[in-house]
Amino acid sequence: MATKPEILIVGGGVAGLALATRLGDTLGRQGLARITLIDKSFSHVWKPMLHCFAAGTAQNENDRISFMAQASNRHFEFWPGEIVALDRANKRAILGPLRSAEGEVVLESRTVEYAALVLAIGSRANDFGTPGVAEHCLFIDNLVEANGFNEKFRMELLRAYAVGKPLDIAIVGGGATGTQLAAELHKALDLVALHSFGSAPPQLRITLLEAGPRVLPAFPEAVSTAAQRQLESIGVSVRTSAMVSGADAEGLSLKDGTRVPATLRVWAAGVKAPDVTSAFDGLSLSRSGQILVHPNLQSQDDEHIFAMGDCSFISSDPLPPTAQVARQQAHHLARHLPALLRNGIAVPSCVFRNKGAIVALGNYNGWGTLPGGTVFGGGFLHGLSARLGHLMLYRQHQVELYGLFRGLMSILADRIDAFVRPSVRLD
Ligand SMILES: Cc1cc2nc3c(=O)[nH]c(=O)nc-3n(C[C@H](O)[C@H](O)[C@H](O)COP(=O)(O)OP(=O)(O)OC[C@H]3O[C@@H](n4cnc5c(N)ncnc54)[C@H](O)[C@@H]3O)c2cc1C
Repeated sequence: MATKPEILIVGGGVAGLALATRLGDTLGRQGLARITLIDKSFSHVWKPMLHCFAAGTAQNENDRISFMAQASNRHFEFWPGEIVALDRANKRAILGPLRSAEGEVVLESRTVEYAALVLAIGSRANDFGTPGVAEHCLFIDNLVEANGFNEKFRMELLRAYAVGKPLDIAIVGGGATGTQLAAELHKALDLVALHSFGSAPPQLRITLLEAGPRVLPAFPEAVSTAAQRQLESIGVSVRTSAMVSGADAEGLSLKDGTRVPATLRVWAAGVKAPDVTSAFDGLSLSRSGQILVHPNLQSQDDEHIFAMGDCSFISSDPLPPTAQVARQQAHHLARHLPALLRNGIAVPSCVFRNKGAIVALGNYNGWGTLPGGTVFGGGFLHGLSARLGHLMLYRQHQVELYGLFRGLMSILADRIDAFVRPSVRLD
């Protein structure tokens, strides 16, 4: 491996891959700097689609972008590896050993030097140390976990078909992830029923638990009310002000003393940075472990380190952990890092421009908010427009990474695939 990349980006998610691609197109193409991306996985997925992969309503073979292919097309280097620590004095990132699926060490622990380091390692759901959650709940924070959930969902559905009993699923967290997952799971059952075993589909009993007083707390109250009504109309039991106090193999216990029995238990609440940030050589962290940065995304402790997306936190102007924020921050650094590196011009503050938010409940309904607070969506036609808007965000991301022609071809390939294959994952 080359020993001195000029700009090292760790984490190739929404923010990291956009930054690597843009810097590759500018500095990398002209040979002005070496851009290196490190990710613990070999391919990128658009994280806001993970609940669709978990439900099986999207097939991730087509939706993965190979880091190696992207790197060679867009003039940056990619190395698989997991950052485990930082040596700030020597400007080195330390990567743990790279293991095969069988656990064999393929590459020993390595160090990678940098002139500028950009950390973009995302976040995980936060179980706040609730007893039993780590052992008995599933998470859908990355593709491996989403695929793992899907495998269990399909097997339990098969069992429910065979024995003719309902399947109970409890989802903790009434934010965008939990509400969208509940709707996608119902959509998946509707689609599986089209290919079923000659018997009527089993009953899917989903309970959505939210600790706060309403689901979708980041949206206006009218959207929360409409979304809850929509979920209830398809059979989801929504419980608000429901604080989970523990999990076991049979279900969840709530603070009010009640129980929610569930064969599958999913934790989709809260956000925290990956635990590894505590090994970042004394970088200051928020209570959720996110790296504290100035408004220009530079670490509060080290001028050579930047952090963006979900793993970063601006104390003077906290932003929500969303793809929109991650993307804008990546674009900002892509614009200003070259001048810092070449001429020492400081990176200016990144000003977030809120372009609104969209939530899509499977095929059933969708809503959006515009920056002025206007709410749109709901109902057959407007719900459809919100759902299409949600899909457009993903297509925009694909076009940005692939370029216009390949981006449009990949959309066409998806359409052909949707025509040829079953519309839900069955194997
Ligand atoms: C199910 C779900 C639905 C969502 N829906 C929406 C939505 O509709 N709209 C919206 O705006 N946001 C949504 N979000 C949030 C959005 O996905 C995140 O805010 C966004 O992905 C953050 O981007 P990021 O680049 O910071 O991190 P990520 O996209 O999570 O990327 C982090 C990358 O870092 C890598 N990595 C992690 N740890 C290490 C390590 N130690 N070493 C090396 N690499 C590492 C990971 O493999 C990954 O590639 C959703 C999230 C989930 C889970």
